[in-house]
Amino acid sequence: MKSQEAESRKVIPIAAAQAPGELISLYAAHQKIYPRSVSGLFGSWRWAMVWLTQLIFYGLPWLEWGQRQAVLFDLGARRFYIFGLVLYPQDFIYLTGLMVISALSLFLFTAVAGRLWCGYACPQTVYTEIFLWIERKVEGDRSARMRRDRQNWSPERALRKGAKHLIWIAVALWTGFTFVGYFTPIRELGTEIIQMSLGPWETFWTFFYGFATYGNAGFMREQVCKHMCPYARFQSAMFDKDTLIVTYDARRGEPRGARSRKADPQTLSLGACVDCSLCVQVCPTGIDIRKGLQYECIGCGACVDACDTVMDRMGYARGLVKYSTDNAMKQGWSQAQTLRHVFRPRVLIYTAILGSIVLAMLLSLSLRTPFKVDVVRDRGVMARIVAGGNIENVYRLQIMNATEKAQHYRIAVSGLPGLVLASENTVLVESTQSRWVAVRVQLAPEGAVPGSHAIHFEIESLDASGHLTEKSVFLVPH
Ligand code: SF4
Ligand code: SF4
Repeated sequence: MKSQEAESRKVIPIAAAQAPGELISLYAAHQKIYPRSVSGLFGSWRWAMVWLTQLIFYGLPWLEWGQRQAVLFDLGARRFYIFGLVLYPQDFIYLTGLMVISALSLFLFTAVAGRLWCGYACPQTVYTEIFLWIERKVEGDRSARMRRDRQNWSPERALRKGAKHLIWIAVALWTGFTFVGYFTPIRELGTEIIQMSLGPWETFWTFFYGFATYGNAGFMREQVCKHMCPYARFQSAMFDKDTLIVTYDARRGEPRGARSRKADPQTLSLGACVDCSLCVQVCPTGIDIRKGLQYECIGCGACVDACDTVMDRMGYARGLVKYSTDNAMKQGWSQAQTLRHVFRPRVLIYTAILGSIVLAMLLSLSLRTPFKVDVVRDRGVMARIVAGGNIENVYRLQIMNATEKAQHYRIAVSGLPGLVLASENTVLVESTQSRWVAVRVQLAPEGAVPGSHAIHFEIESLDASGHLTEKSVFLVPH
C-alpha cells in the first residue's frame, strides 16, 4: 500500500541553484558617472538658480542690520533675528507656518512641473553643479576625465586630482563656515578662526557641514537622489497625467538610428532620434530618458538641451525630448493646450491654500505685539497674610522685549474687586532682552471667599504700541 502511494506521488527534484562553492553577489558595484557639459535654455536656468541660491546663502550672514547681523539664529540667547524681526522661542508658530508653506509649495511645484525643486534648487543639485564645474575646469570634460581615470597614475594625473580636491575642500569648508555663521555672528567666527580660538561646537559643525558638502557633491552625487532622498520615493504620488515631466517623443523619434545630416529619414524609414546617446551622456543620474519616465530622473532638463542641440545640427524641429505631460503626449496637444491643462483644479486649490497661509502669516507678523509675557506663580511664596490683614500672592513675570529699543512697560492687575498691585508697576527692559520681575498682588480679607480665583495681568508698552493680557489665579487661604 505504502509503495503504491509512493509511486503515485510526484517527485520534483530540487536542482542546485549554483555550483557548490560558487558565490552570487547581490551587490551591484557603483558605476561612476561622468556627466558631459551641456549648454542651453535649461542649463542657463540651472545656473541662474545656482547663482541666486548661493548669493543668498553665502551673502546673507554678512549683511548688517543696525548694530547686528541681519539674519542670525542665536540659539544660546534664544533669539532669532531676521532683518527687523526679533523672534523668541515662543514665536515657534511662525516656524511651523514656514514649514507648512514650504511643504505646500513643494506639493504645488511638483503637481505643476514634477521635480522642479530637485532639478534646479535642491542643495544637492546646486553643489553637485558647482563641484562638477570645478572638476571640468581642472580635469577637462567627460572624455578627458574618463581617459585619465583609465590610465595609470602619473604626476599630471596626481596634480590635477590633488588640485581638484584642494579646491573642493576649500569650497566645502567655506560652506561649513557660512552655515555656522547663521548661528554665531560670522565676523566673530572669522576672527576666532584666525586666532585659532574656535569653540568645540563651532569647530564640529564647520567640519561636519563641510565634510557633508564635500562627500555629497564630490562623491555621492546622484546616489543621494537615487538612494537616500525620501522625496524621490514619494514625489510620484503627487504626479498625475497633467504634470509636466521630461519626456521623449517616441512616436517622432522611433525607429532610431544613425544617419548623415543630408540623408532623408523617411527614405531610410527612420525617426528623428539619431541615436547619438548625447541625452544619456549629459544626464547627471546616468539614465536614458528614451526608456520612459524613471524615478531617477530629477527633471533637470539637461537631456532636453542636449537633444535640442542635436536637432538643430540635423535641421530637425526641436522638442524630441521636452517638458510635456502624459496626456499631451498621448493626445498630441499643442504647447498652449498643454499649459491650459497644467492649471487644473488641483493646482488651483493648492495655490489658493498656499496664498491664504502666506497672507495669514504676513498679517499675523505685521499685527504681532512687539513683546511677550509669561506669568508664573511663585511657588516658594504661597498666599500669605501681610501687615494690615491683606492677602498677598507673589508672581514672577517674564517680559520679553522683541524690539531693538529699551522699553518701559506698565503692569496692572484685574479680576477681583479691590485687587491691587503692591509692587512697582513700571519696569524697564533693555532692547531684545527679557527680564524677570517679581510682582506682589494684594486683596482685602473681605475681597473674595477662600479658594482659587481667576485674575488677569495687563501689560502695556509705554514707548511703543502694544498691550497684552495674561491669565493667572489668585489664592485666598481658608
Ligand atoms: S540626444 Fe536626441 S537624438 Fe540623440 S540619442 Fe538622445 S534623443 Fe536621440
Ligand atoms: S533624464 Fe534628463 S531630465 Fe532626467 S535627470 Fe537625466 S538629464 Fe535630467
